[in-house]
Amino acid sequence: MLLSVENLNVFYGEAVHALRDVSFQVDQGEIVSVIGANGAGKSTLMWTLIGLLRPKSGKITFGGKTMNAVPHQAVQGGMALVPERRRLFPNLTVRENLSLGAYLRHDRAKIAEDEAYVFSLFPILKERLGQYAGTLSGGQQQMVAIARGLMSRPKLLLLDEPSLGLAPVLVNQMFDSIQQIARQGTTILLVEQNALQSLKIANRAYVLEVGHIVREGTGQELLRDPSVQAAYLGVR
Ligand code: ATP
Repeated sequence: MLLSVENLNVFYGEAVHALRDVSFQVDQGEIVSVIGANGAGKSTLMWTLIGLLRPKSGKITFGGKTMNAVPHQAVQGGMALVPERRRLFPNLTVRENLSLGAYLRHDRAKIAEDEAYVFSLFPILKERLGQYAGTLSGGQQQMVAIARGLMSRPKLLLLDEPSLGLAPVLVNQMFDSIQQIARQGTTILLVEQNALQSLKIANRAYVLEVGHIVREGTGQELLRDPSVQAAYLGVR
């Protein structure tokens, strides 16, 4: 098991109980999806895993080590977060964004190898290396965000709503790329409002509702689950 989360409780102040006894796990090599509506707690979960929010209680174990809510521990341990809504550095070029992703690393040959890898995933980025990230299209900005995450050579890539705001054709391409990244050996935890696509590519998945995990199963099981179909897949 790569990541294990046990009874996680996260609050904003005293009043907002954003994650309630959340428990789940991610095994090496899996794509695990967490689906949920707006405000379900998906981003909160990601920020907590990477160590930017301190849980009130619960335990996060990653690569066999207990995490102590400090960001460098999760990052050095091999997690990378690709945050929601493409929080890139818009005034940096594509090249600069990618180098930031590799900033903890010094092995130049391997960095070059990883650059070649991200260009094989997203060839357009190679043509746009000198361009400011803020001037790229939405889909290309999302590619830069993912590429930046991959440049730290993560064991676990945390993807926060990668399809948000993308045109339908780009959404399909984005999910294809995610599968390709997983096939190359990077384990993926994906949180998404796009339930259909993320369940289709998930080995296993969880449904998060107002901070609770209410369902879990393989992607295929949840696609067939009538309550998931009614709430998330628009099936009546
Ligand atoms: P979205 O897709 O809209 O980002 P989400 O599933 O990622 O939704 P979160 O952003 O994690 O949900 O929010 C979970 C809950 O915590 C919501 O009720 C939200 O209003 C609340 N919340 C999030 N950030 C804060 C904050 N900084 N202060 C107070 N409450 C917050």
